[in-house]
Amino acid sequence: MLSLAASPGRSHTVLLSRLLWPTAVLFGSTLWIVFSTILWTSDSVNEMAVERQRAQLNAAMEQSLSQLVTRLLDLAAVPAVFDGLDAASPVHGQGSRFNEQILSLRDLGSVALITPEWRPLAGAVDGVPISPESAVKLRQRIEPVVRGALASTSSPTGAGRTRDAVVTSVLFDGTDPYAAFAVPVRITSGGSDQPAILVAHERLVTDDLRRIAAFHELDQFTITTEPPGDLNAAVPLRNVRGEVAAYMTWVSSRPGDLMRQRLVPLTLAGLFVAVVLFGVVAGYLHYIARDLAATEAHSRNLIGRDPLSGLANRLLFSERLDKELHRLPRAEQRLAVLFIDLDRFKDVNDTYGHQVGDDLIQLVAQRLVSLVRVGDTTARFGGDEFAIIQTGIRSRDEAGALAKRILDSLTQPFALAETQVIIGASIGIALAPDNGADRETLMRLADTALYQAKGSGRNRYSFFQSRMDETIRMRKMVEEDLRRAISCNELVLHYQPLFSSDGVTVVGVEALVRWPHPTRGMISPAEFIPIAEERGLVIPLGEWVLRQACTDGRRWPGLRIAVNVSAVQFRHRDFVGKVVNLLEETGLEPGRLELELTEGVVVEDADAAESAMMELRALGIHLALDDFGTGYSSLIYLRRFAFDKIKIDRSFLESMEATGESAILVHSMVHLGRALGLTVTAEGVETPEQHRFLQALGCHQLQGFLFSRPVPAAEIDGLVARRETLAGAPAAA
Ligand code: C2E
Ligand code: MG
Ligand code: MG
Repeated sequence: MLSLAASPGRSHTVLLSRLLWPTAVLFGSTLWIVFSTILWTSDSVNEMAVERQRAQLNAAMEQSLSQLVTRLLDLAAVPAVFDGLDAASPVHGQGSRFNEQILSLRDLGSVALITPEWRPLAGAVDGVPISPESAVKLRQRIEPVVRGALASTSSPTGAGRTRDAVVTSVLFDGTDPYAAFAVPVRITSGGSDQPAILVAHERLVTDDLRRIAAFHELDQFTITTEPPGDLNAAVPLRNVRGEVAAYMTWVSSRPGDLMRQRLVPLTLAGLFVAVVLFGVVAGYLHYIARDLAATEAHSRNLIGRDPLSGLANRLLFSERLDKELHRLPRAEQRLAVLFIDLDRFKDVNDTYGHQVGDDLIQLVAQRLVSLVRVGDTTARFGGDEFAIIQTGIRSRDEAGALAKRILDSLTQPFALAETQVIIGASIGIALAPDNGADRETLMRLADTALYQAKGSGRNRYSFFQSRMDETIRMRKMVEEDLRRAISCNELVLHYQPLFSSDGVTVVGVEALVRWPHPTRGMISPAEFIPIAEERGLVIPLGEWVLRQACTDGRRWPGLRIAVNVSAVQFRHRDFVGKVVNLLEETGLEPGRLELELTEGVVVEDADAAESAMMELRALGIHLALDDFGTGYSSLIYLRRFAFDKIKIDRSFLESMEATGESAILVHSMVHLGRALGLTVTAEGVETPEQHRFLQALGCHQLQGFLFSRPVPAAEIDGLVARRETLAGAPAAA
């Protein structure tokens, strides 16, 4: 069963724990991604920066070299410079045009013109005119560049050369870096054209380099022969043999580091803010979750409540009853289950509308709650059904007293919608442990008792009694077995003769159905007819009775055959047609059939009943009003409807001896019937006194045990045979 105990607090812990872990994981992974990205990006930025710095340094060097190259080329571009030079007779610099030009390039350390075989033609080394000795020295410095120039030289024609053929290089001689140039040229001497190489050697001053570096924002530029820590931030310098002899290094500006320095604290600050925010959100969620838990507890509570009355509903009622029953043996007390059903609630609803009906339910709920003790449970099951668990009682009288208080209270008028409404109630009570110790049994028995209370006239309470259970069982049995009994012809008809007032002459018989049940013996119609009516079985049953009675009646000429017709059967569509068919089928004259109707038939739908009755009368069928005096007994009915006969209910004869009042009533009824020209029959005549009294009043027909009980058809056969014999005897005589 659904437990209604709320568990506040649990759900919000669950909510938080479900929220906390994913958030922590999310945070962690986001943090990891952010930091990795920062590190990776800053490293890349650093690398790119160093790359750019190296490129800048190279570009700067090239730029400064290109100025030298330009000057050299300018020199090489003037053919006159080479005039008067002869490879066979080198001038070693003195007095030639070449040397004049060289002098104009004084700041150029060494410039010389040499043959491919390294014979000096002209020029200066370290500012001194070139000599074979200084040419060797120069060769040692710039040999690889010259080799390059020679290799790249195709066959230039004419003096002056293109820039393409210039070979430059920065080399290191152990103390300083220097630039080496070689330009292939041709000289014209003595009318012949000869190849030569214009070479230069220029010491690069470290300060100049530093200046260039500083210009390109390379910090602390130095040239070192020691390999630097960061090889990326270094440009190697080679000696003439092509070996790395020194490095140009600098402290690279590392923008990635800066980025890291700035981003990391920023990220940490962001993280801090996020954590704080998460704390705030978690706190808020905690608050909401607690609120939710409270709402949940409240709605769980509501689950057990009837929304209209605020009382417990059936579910909660059942749960409480289980609990109370569980406690009962220890408490050595009793408890009572009261089922309450309002009388006339439907009328209030139909007359004043559902809103007033709802208001009434609420007022009833208030009154009920005010009548029970603390600890008792009051519930509404829906509609106008209420129930109470009365606990801690010692005797059934206490339950009876509560039921009485409830009836007293609920019969007081209710002020509703500017009107006063009066209702009543029926109450069924079952006691534990007297009637049962489990919930299902107690509720079923309280319901049975309620049914009984309603059946016996409403506005009363009934304690459950075991015979009630028998009634219910009977009901179930009838519901289950009657259909089969009808179709299998298990029912039988008994006939009770009706006598004229002399009590001797049989004028007719009344067909009364009997059910000889295989296990329960003979069952009286009073027991099963009402159930058959409820379950719609009275239609096939009535048809069977009518057919059987007409069939039997054919054997009894001169006797009128009275058949009881239930209101449900009479109102069923084409009842008249069915009767006509059965008369045709069985061959009984319509004038010998008498249908006994009750007042219920005419009250419900008077117009329809009237026309059906007119049709039946027109066919010659007789109509009797059965149980006269017990229902509405309105004079109007008697006048309006085409009855031939009234049958005074036997209850009047039963009580006639005890109260004079009944005798007066019987007297009046007989006279009334006679006055209206109806045949008056008295039912239930059991004593000769009654017979005499009725005879004296002028009652036309009598029926009762005094004359004959209902008997099987065979006995009526005998009776008819005897009557015929009696009737035939004088004739024969
Ligand atoms: P009812 O039509 O008023 O029938 C008369 C009832 O009174 C019969 O009860 C009969 O046995 C009983 N009775 C007759 N004389 C006396 C008497 O002197 N003293 C006492 N104490 N009782 C007497 P029964 O046969 O039990 O039938 C009860 C009711 O069941 C009938 O009342 C009738 O309303 C209904 N009923 C019987 N058979 C049928 C039927 O075939 N169809 C329908 N629809 N109702 C039937
Ligand atoms: Mg009858
Ligand atoms: Mg009757």
